[in-house]
Amino acid sequence: MDNEKLSSLIRDVPDFPKPGISYKDITTLLKEPSALKSAIGAMVKPFLNDKIELVVGIESRGFILGAPIAIELGWGFVPMRKPGKLPAEKLSQEYDLEYGSDSIEIHADAISAGQKVLLVDDVLATGGTLAASCQLLDKLEAEIVGISVLAELGFLQGRKKLPDCRFETVIDY
Ligand code: AMP
Repeated sequence: MDNEKLSSLIRDVPDFPKPGISYKDITTLLKEPSALKSAIGAMVKPFLNDKIELVVGIESRGFILGAPIAIELGWGFVPMRKPGKLPAEKLSQEYDLEYGSDSIEIHADAISAGQKVLLVDDVLATGGTLAASCQLLDKLEAEIVGISVLAELGFLQGRKKLPDCRFETVIDY
């Protein structure tokens, strides 16, 4: 399945979760046979020659996309979670969202210094979430090989917030 077909399977929901936001709903892609496999294949393709050890997936759609990547390539998986969900000692980072503000957390012992990680989420919007996630990965001294998302809302220029590392998207709106 090509990227154009994948793009056509993502549904735009106007005014969700707030007026003025056009929400990219990937549930319509996920339920289509073989689309999830194609999507994760396209997301990981640029990184196949990198010696990645861990996929870091951002809650919650970064879990849906990140876990199958980890299974497919035999890498480990680390969840980057919304506040209050992780049980053990953790690090926290606040960030601004396209709609509101939030914070994100990771277990303090999730990654060893120097481990090579691929950061995964569904959508890059303003870049706040991925930028905060990179800050946490920096605190753990992870080596961020790259960031892979299914779709980028290019007009929001979220990439400008990201650190200087490889960034790949399957779909650019
Ligand atoms: P941001 O921090 O603004 O880049 O937002 C990225 C996070 O919020 C991602 O985890 C997305 O799942 C979600 N998100 C933000 N804006 C949208 C949107 N327009 N459609 C779908 N998801 C969005």
